[in-house]
Amino acid sequence: MLKIVISGAAGRMGAAIARELYPMDDLTVVGALDRVGNEVIGKHIGEVAGLPEPGVRITDRIENLEFDVMIDFSSPVAVADHLEICQAHDAAIVIGTTGLDQAQSQLVVNAADSIPVLLAANTSVGINLCVALVEIASKVIGDSVDIEVVEAHHRHKADAPSGTALLLGKAAAGALDRDFPDCGTFAREGQTGERETGTIGFSTIRGGDIAGEHTVMFIGESERLEITHRATDRKIFARGAVRAASWLAQQKTGFYSMQDVLDLD
Ligand code: NAD
Repeated sequence: MLKIVISGAAGRMGAAIARELYPMDDLTVVGALDRVGNEVIGKHIGEVAGLPEPGVRITDRIENLEFDVMIDFSSPVAVADHLEICQAHDAAIVIGTTGLDQAQSQLVVNAADSIPVLLAANTSVGINLCVALVEIASKVIGDSVDIEVVEAHHRHKADAPSGTALLLGKAAAGALDRDFPDCGTFAREGQTGERETGTIGFSTIRGGDIAGEHTVMFIGESERLEITHRATDRKIFARGAVRAASWLAQQKTGFYSMQDVLDLD
């Protein structure tokens, strides 16, 4: 039985992970961590995540608790503490939290000297498969086509293009040995002139409740290849993070990505 601690337990992703783990026989939630001062501290995770049973209480610290893997979807400022907790407990960590600055990213890399660490800006299996497909398509036809990335998200999303659109664009650029963001075109308006060869264009759609759609187009003469991923629920990220946790528990100390989990390298 794999013992899991969820950090950011009261958040949208924390709750989705609790729901994903609840019916599983081989993984169990032994700890639920959230930020000091959060009103949910002391409540049961089952109540917060809408489960039929109460489960563990949400706490603001982890002490004397035996666990195997922490799944962290919290906040960039919390990641340093969570790495320390895992190092102190000799546990692995799956980090899905995004927006880490350079110093925080370096801490993650350093921690991989003493524990198994997996960092993934997108834990969806489908998106990570898309990344691999985009790399293959770029290598085969990338130099003879125009590459465009189109993404659509709900009306509340604050940033554009999405981190995942950038991930896909970077995968294409990397496969073609092009500098990113040098080759990225992020806006077109007015007299833009002809499309510059070798660029990778990004377009953004915002509206309603779209959970997340990404298409990479390889546009050539007389044909167009499109690789599309459509998310309808954030549970895909939770499912991928849980799969990553199961996989990471079997690994030696080191730094890993979703590409390793899915054996796509
Ligand atoms: P959210 O705001 O709903 O939840 C974040 C939770 O973390 C909150 O409950 C908050 O109180 C808690 N938190 C903040 N500081 C903490 C601390 N010091 N210790 C413990 N808990 C703390 O956000 P969300 O939508 O669940 O997203 C969380 C993170 O995951 C974000 O960085 C988001 O971008 C990222 N995310 C990643 C993926 C992926 O596939 N990797 C998918 C969705 C979201």
